[in-house]
Amino acid sequence: MGQLTDYNYIMALLGRHGFRFSKAKGQNFLVAPWVPERIAAESGADGRTGVLEIGPGVGCLTAELARRAGRVLALEIDARLMPVLAETVGALGNVTVLNGDVMDAELGALVVEHFGGLTPAVCANLPYNITTPVLTKLIASGLFPTVTVMIQREVARRICAVPGTADYGAFGIFVDFYYKPSQLFDVPPDCFEPRPKVTSTVIRLEKRETPAALVDEKLFFQIVRAAFNQRRKTLVNALASGFSGRLEKARIAGCIAACGFTETARGETLSIEAFARLTREMGRALE
Ligand code: SAM
Repeated sequence: MGQLTDYNYIMALLGRHGFRFSKAKGQNFLVAPWVPERIAAESGADGRTGVLEIGPGVGCLTAELARRAGRVLALEIDARLMPVLAETVGALGNVTVLNGDVMDAELGALVVEHFGGLTPAVCANLPYNITTPVLTKLIASGLFPTVTVMIQREVARRICAVPGTADYGAFGIFVDFYYKPSQLFDVPPDCFEPRPKVTSTVIRLEKRETPAALVDEKLFFQIVRAAFNQRRKTLVNALASGFSGRLEKARIAGCIAACGFTETARGETLSIEAFARLTREMGRALE
């Protein structure tokens, strides 16, 4: 398996297929054997797991996942990699490689068709250019009890941020609302070819049995987005502009006071539970 992360082997393989790296497709392939091995191990995949891998590249993580999982479905956007993958992982009986864009994929249909009876999971070294939309799609699908992915360290920090820090924001709250996030380990740029400019981090998301708060989710995220759209403003001012025409500033101030927050509170200091309290107050005011 180690050869799929061997620099000379990969360059010769890709050269034979006339492949050139595409920056637009976020193609930074792993050239350090410990990384795909550790990501696959951290995914917790076993014989009862059906793993969706997004962007197999030359298949180094695919092969590691295939050793552990019941089935692996690898979805790769770049058609030029299809003959490469046929050569590297084509003989593995529990692997299916599909050519397609994850953003267009019908994930529910793929899970039913390929993972019948297995517990679905996601494990991938994600293309950096679409990290946030892919994670949003995976989370919104509600299909995967666990998601183990390598992403930019900066995005990992935002996902795992706590209230009151600069990294804390609407995207992290969205993830945390549905999944418990943990940062597992960092991967330096020299583990990739070509080398990215930034350090990467592997994170694991575990689906919460019930969301982090029981509230009107649509209103909750409207409030969160409004609060962070203008994060330098006080909460009352940010919400007054986000809800202009729907709720007067004085009523919003009343809701904030009823939650026990100070007049000068900012959204970035509020936990999910605090935003949930505010959602209940504002929901009543909007009735
Ligand atoms: N898994 C390989 C590895 O770790 O060496 C490659 C990872 S590379 C960071 C990201 C991969 O995702 C590339 O193979 C790229 O072509 C593929 N990719 C980019 N956008 C995609 C999309 N929208 N859907 C599916 N695959 C995509």
